Amino acid sequence: MVEYSQILQNLEFINISTDEFTIFEWKPPRSYKSFILDLNIVKQNPVSNIFFHIFKGNMKIVHIRINNLIYTAGSNNKVQFQLLEALIEKVSIEFNIKYDIESYISYGNFSTTMVNSFNENIEDIIAGFNNFDIVKVLKVPCMVCNTVLPIIVKKSFIENAESYPVPLVYMHKGHSILCFIDKNYDIRGVELVNITG
Ligand SMILES: [Zn+2]
Repeated sequence: MVEYSQILQNLEFINISTDEFTIFEWKPPRSYKSFILDLNIVKQNPVSNIFFHIFKGNMKIVHIRINNLIYTAGSNNKVQFQLLEALIEKVSIEFNIKYDIESYISYGNFSTTMVNSFNENIEDIIAGFNNFDIVKVLKVPCMVCNTVLPIIVKKSFIENAESYPVPLVYMHKGHSILCFIDKNYDIRGVELVNITG
C-alpha cells in the first residue's frame, strides 16, 4: 500500500493564478520560500488544457491552464509527475466547486481573503489522497536498473485514453523506459527509449 499523503509531504507549493495575479497559494507550514520567478515563467505559456512539466534543480513543477486560471504545483524530486497532475486535477475540481471564481474575477474587486479557507481543503486533499482512488501504482520492470519500479499513473490518463495500450515514458536516473498500459492497468510491454531535447 503506497501512502500518497506521505509522498505529498514533499510538496513545496500549490498556486492558483490568473494572468495578472495569484488568487490562492498553499505552502507547507514554516515554508517562507517564494516561487514568484517560477510562476512568472509558467504564466508566459499560453497553451490551455495540457499539463507541462518543468525540472528545476531538485524541484519538479507541473502546471496547466484551464479557462482563465493557471494551476501550478511544485515539489522536490521525490514526487512523480503523474501524482502532481492528479493532485492538480483534484484541486481544480474542489476549487471550482467551492468558488464561482470566474464571476468573482469579472466583478473586478476580487479579494484573495475570500479564498483563504481553501487552505483547509488542500490539507484535506493531501491527508485523504488515498481515499480518492484517482491514481494507481504499476510495477514496471526496467532492463537498465534490473529491478521492478513503482510507477504512479493517473486513472484519468488511462480512462480518457483514445486507444489502448496507452504509452507512458518514465524518465529516471538518466534513462527512460516506454511502457504500454492497457485499460485494465496491465503492462503490455516495456522498451528502453532514447530521449533528446
Ligand atoms: Zn531504470
